[in-house]
Formats: sequence, C-alpha cells, structure tokens
Amino acid sequence: MIKKLILPLLLLSTVIVSAQSPMEIHQKAILIDTHNDILSNILITKQDVGKLQNTGNFDLVRAKQGGLDGQIFSIWCGEEYGTGKAFAMANREIDSLYALIARYPDKITLVHNSKELQKAVKQQKMAAMIGVEGGHMIEDRMDYIDSLAKRGMNYLTLTWNNSTSWATSARDEVTKKDSLKHPGLTDYGKQIVKHLNELGVMVDVSHVGERTFYDVIATSTKPVIASHSCAYALDPNRRNMKDDQLKALAKNGGVICLNFYSGFVDSTYSPKVAAFLHQHKKELDSLTQVYHDGDLANIRLNAIYRSESDKIRPPLSLLIKHIDYIVKLIGVDHVGIGSDFDGAESYPLGLDSVADYPKITEELLKLGYSEKDIDKILGGNVLRVFKANTGK
Ligand SMILES: [Zn+2]
Repeated sequence: MIKKLILPLLLLSTVIVSAQSPMEIHQKAILIDTHNDILSNILITKQDVGKLQNTGNFDLVRAKQGGLDGQIFSIWCGEEYGTGKAFAMANREIDSLYALIARYPDKITLVHNSKELQKAVKQQKMAAMIGVEGGHMIEDRMDYIDSLAKRGMNYLTLTWNNSTSWATSARDEVTKKDSLKHPGLTDYGKQIVKHLNELGVMVDVSHVGERTFYDVIATSTKPVIASHSCAYALDPNRRNMKDDQLKALAKNGGVICLNFYSGFVDSTYSPKVAAFLHQHKKELDSLTQVYHDGDLANIRLNAIYRSESDKIRPPLSLLIKHIDYIVKLIGVDHVGIGSDFDGAESYPLGLDSVADYPKITEELLKLGYSEKDIDKILGGNVLRVFKANTGK
C-alpha cells in the first residue's frame, strides 16, 4: 500500500518541481555578482543609487527586480593615483559605500563572511562586499592591507592594468614582455598572497599576467577568484583566461566569474567600437572634459547614441557560450557571475542593468542546466570560495 502511494507522490513532486518558472528558480537562488564599478562613478555623478536611476546599470531598486542578493563593489582608481593618493582614494570610495548603507540600512548591509551573507539574504537585504581592484592601492604597505581588510575588503585584485613593484599585470606581461624586471610575483608579492590568505581576503587574479597567475596558484593556500574575466578560447583578449589557466584554477578550487563586457565576450567587438568612437570623437572629447573620466564619458556616449551602439553589441547567447564552454572544460563548480556593470560601455543585448540577470537563468534552463547547477553558477560557487577563505 505504501509503495503504491510513493510512486504517485514522486511523480507529483516532479510535476511540482518542473512547474517552477525560470523566474522562481532565479529568485530562489542566491545571486552574487563579484564585480561592479558603481562606487567609482558615484564620486563623480553623486547619484543616489538607493533610488531608481535612469542612467547606469545599478541601483537598489533594479537589483531587487533582478534577484541580486550579494554585490562585491569594486574599489578602484587609475594608475595615475600614485603613492600618497591611491590608498586615500580607496578609502574615499569605501566611505561612499558606508554612506549608502547608512542611508538605506533596511535595504543593504555590509557582510564579512558567507554566514553573514546568508543572514542578509534571509533578512531580504542586499549583502554588500568590497573588492579592491588594483594592488597599487596598498602602496606597497602590508599595514594598508590590514586597514582595508578591517574596513571589509573581501578580495584584492593583485594588479589592475598597471603592474605593481611586486606583481606584473596582463597588460604589461603582454606589451613589455622581456623588458619586465620581475615577471610574476616577487618574494614580497608572495608574502602579500600569504598574508591575504591569513586574513581571509580572497586573492583576485583578474587583470594579472599569466606569470603572476601561476605564481599565485603555487603560493596561495586558499581557493582564488577571477572576479571579472571570460574564456580566452572564445575571445583571445589578454584579460581572459586560457584553457590551461582555467584548469589550474579548478585544481586550486577557485572560481571564474564571467565578465559581461562586450569586448571580453565578443572577439569582433573591438574594431566595431573603435569605428564608433572615431565617428563621435568630438563629442567623446567634450564628455571626457565634463566627467574627467574617459570610461564614464564612453558609457554616456554609448547611451546617447543608443540605437547605433546597440548594433555592435553581441547577442546574449555569446556570453552564455562562455559559461557553457568553461563548465564543459573544468566543471560547473568553478563558474560565477562578475558583470563589470558600470565599468564598461557595452554589454550583450538584453543585459542593460542588474534587473536583467534572470535572462541568464532563462538561457541556462533552455540549454538544459539543472536548478542545482544554476544555483552554483549564480552564487553557490562564490559562496563556497568565500567560506573557504574566511573560515565561516
Ligand atoms: Zn577590471
């Protein structure tokens, strides 16, 4: 009798599970985006991202719509901020995140480990985290690392496009090659990686050169993160990771979080955007004067000429192809989401803001991905690496 009951019950539960809509599956998952540049922009635009905005890719209203549970906010300044300025700038940006949290304490909260993150999700608050993008912001000082970690630094991207005195960047390893004095990590660089491991701060290998990457893999005792990169095999850009790097990352237990930037997704994008920028050079120059920031000017130019810039955006399917390629190469346990929203001028069609993450879930379901695998890709894998680093 019991056996007779079990089968219909099992069938019924299958029906219930399969009846979930893509949006339900998406909203149930913990979604963590490991890279967003809005804080750097806020210092210039002064916009209040606690309220719905009609520019940019991020605000707390659209984040809710998109089911975004955890956001690692990038703390960044360019290489022109040298010693005496870069660390101060990093702190100014952290101050602006603290101010946002103080203004909207019922909507967003700072978390320091995976436990606190899960608690925030239960309270329906966005879990905010801090990623410091560029080793130049520690100004070669170990005590600055301690200070940033105390303020909530969750990962340190060892280099941005510029090398530090202790680690070489992807740009410099490719463009300067043999003229580099110390390719990879120096002894001090290795000490920094070990110190980050001890503090429970994740080591971010996006932006670093291949030499640095392999030195990190040999040095780090904890799983590392590539916070915003794609697959080199599909778009041979130095910011993307080669197959052997991806395999080494998987062996380390780490995670690569896919960057949405059109230039890292689509190998045909660069020449197209170069032509677009050339055509609107005068306006770009004046926008750069207004914003004192080339990237933000570029973002605004793309918005002004929306119908034109839309034509050169890759399809969403191409980003999904990167996810699927990496999953097939190294397994579903090592892939995540690192949009680079508000840090680039163009993303695949359909991905206009943080409200659009559900489209990724939809596409993965179409490809036959299970709910369990989608959970891992949306945030489960990052949560695991976060926990492995912080110990809780
Ligand atoms: Zn970056």
